[in-house]
Amino acid sequence: MTNTLPSILGGKTVLITAAAQGIGRASALACLAAGGDVIATDIQSEGLATLAAEAGPGARLRTARLDVRDTAAINALAAELPPLHGLFNCAGFVHHGSVLDCDEAAWDFSMDLNVKSMLRMLRAFLPGMLAEAARTGAGASVLNMASMASSIKGFPNRFAYGTTKAAVIGLSKSVAADYVKQGLRCNALCPGTVDTPSLRGRIAAAADPVQAEKDFIARQPMGRLATVDDIAPLVVFLLSDASRFITGQAVSVDGGVTI
Ligand code: NAD
Repeated sequence: MTNTLPSILGGKTVLITAAAQGIGRASALACLAAGGDVIATDIQSEGLATLAAEAGPGARLRTARLDVRDTAAINALAAELPPLHGLFNCAGFVHHGSVLDCDEAAWDFSMDLNVKSMLRMLRAFLPGMLAEAARTGAGASVLNMASMASSIKGFPNRFAYGTTKAAVIGLSKSVAADYVKQGLRCNALCPGTVDTPSLRGRIAAAADPVQAEKDFIARQPMGRLATVDDIAPLVVFLLSDASRFITGQAVSVDGGVTI
């Protein structure tokens, strides 16, 4: 893990969902390296345990099992935590297929995990973040995980996924507009194709995995997949006060796909 932004999260408490693996995990480690107090949450406890081991015994890390589809659990966690300065809603799921492959159950699942989870998290954590921003005068930042596959660009077989990620961009702009005068910023992160465990699963599930990997690489003009460490420094930046004049943006980190 590369830390290019030392200490810019000093004094900040940030919570990350889906932090057990992939982009969320790399972001948790990068936020720790940047001096933040990190609350890493995920539905899978084993990944959180290996994250804690990787961070080491002195790390300012707290882990908590959290299902972002469980409103009661989210509210209970918010009630016991100190106010947050940063919230990274990272959890999401890739449904593979067109509109004709997406029945109502698949649609509902994607909307629930990718979008409604953010409603739950924001309603639970935003009041504390706003109160803390008002009390201290320091900035608060929400970052929501969208994708280049969204209102930014259409891709084959990303019907439910692209729909949900477009909704995330609209949601983020709405939150930014509502709280811009109260010290709270909100942005959406729009990565290209990132080499994570779930991407490896999608490649392995393809009829021809070798060709599938070549196809994923070919759609990125830089000629490679992103690594999680291409994304994590941007997460740190957008959660920190270093990005204090940036709000309501869909921030792309896509290796040139949308040039
Ligand atoms: P991943 O898909 O490999 O891991 C997802 C994590 O989410 C897992 O640790 C899993 O346990 C957790 N999770 C699943 N359901 C959950 C729930 N109900 N509550 C809490 N946690 C849950 O990770 P990734 O590929 O880094 O993707 C993370 C986010 O980034 C997703 O929102 C994804 O859509 C987005 N994204 C990924 C890519 C990519 O190419 N990998 C590109 C753009 C955007």
